[in-house]
Amino acid sequence: MSTEPIGRGSTSGESHPSGSHATSPYGTPGYRPAHARPDDTDTYVAIVDEAAADVAAASHLDGGSSSALRIVWLYPDLLSTYGDRGNLLILVRRAQVRGLAVEAIEVRSDQAVPADGDIYLLGGGEDGPQALAAQRLAADGGLHRAIDRGAAVLAICAGYQLLGRSFFAKGAKYPGLELLDLDSDRGPSRAVGELVGEPDPALGLPTITGFENHGGRTHLGPGVRPLARVSAGIGNDGTTEGAWRDKIVGTYMHGPALARNPALADLVLGWATGAQLTPVDDTWPGRLRSERLGAVRTG
Ligand code: GLN
Repeated sequence: MSTEPIGRGSTSGESHPSGSHATSPYGTPGYRPAHARPDDTDTYVAIVDEAAADVAAASHLDGGSSSALRIVWLYPDLLSTYGDRGNLLILVRRAQVRGLAVEAIEVRSDQAVPADGDIYLLGGGEDGPQALAAQRLAADGGLHRAIDRGAAVLAICAGYQLLGRSFFAKGAKYPGLELLDLDSDRGPSRAVGELVGEPDPALGLPTITGFENHGGRTHLGPGVRPLARVSAGIGNDGTTEGAWRDKIVGTYMHGPALARNPALADLVLGWATGAQLTPVDDTWPGRLRSERLGAVRTG
C-alpha cells in the first residue's frame, strides 16, 4: 500500500501546514501564536500537542495491526483548511481514550487510496484543489470501494461538495463522485462566518456549531437527509446544513467540526466500530461550544 504514516517524512511540497508534524500541529511542540493569551491557551496547546502525539503514535510504518481502527485522511495536500486536520486528531484521541487501537493513515493526492479503512476524512479546499481532488478520487476508485465495504466518511465543505453529483469551481461545473444525492452550484455571495444548526433528530446530536466559508450552495435530493436545520449562517442554502446517509456525513462546518461537536465525532466512531461508546470528559469541548454559541447569540 502506497500510503504514508502521518508525521513521518510526509512532505507534500505545499505551503499549508498540514500532515507533516510528528508532535504538534503547529510544527513545534508547545508553540503557540504570539497573540495567544497565556491562560487557557496554554492548556489548549498542551491538549493539542498531546493529541498530535497520539496521532504520531497511531501512525505506522510497516502495515500496523489488522484489528486497529483505520482512520484515513484523504488528500491533505489539496483539502485541508481552517483546522480540518483537527478532525483527525480528535477521532484518534476519542478512540484511544475508549481503549481502541487506532491507525491514522495520510494519503496524499499522488497516492493510491486504500479501500480497507474504517473512517475516511475529507477536508475543505479552494476551487482548483477541489476539482483536482474530485478528478483523482474518481480515477482512483478506492473511496468508492471502501464505502461499498461499509466504511464511514466525514467530509467538510469542498470535500462534502465533491461527494455529490456535481459542483462548481472557478466558474465551471465539475462531476462529483456521486456518493451523495446532491448537487452544488454557486450562491449570490460567499457564506462566511458562524454556522449553527439543529440536527436531524434521527442522529441524536445536540446543536451543531462551526465556521463556514464557501461560495457554493448545495441542493439535496431524496437520497440524503439534511444534517441540520440552520439557525444561524447559510449552510447548504440558508435553510438546511450538510447531509447524511448510511455512514456518510458531509457538512460545511470547519472549526474544526469535531472540536466543536464531539458528539458528531462519537457518531462517526460509533458508525465505524458498531460499538456503544462510553462517555468521556468533554469539559474543554463544552467550553469551546459555549463560547462559540454565545458569540453567535450575542453577536
Ligand atoms: N471551493 C468551495 C466553495 O467555495 C469549498 C470551499 C471550502 O472548502 N471552504 O464553495
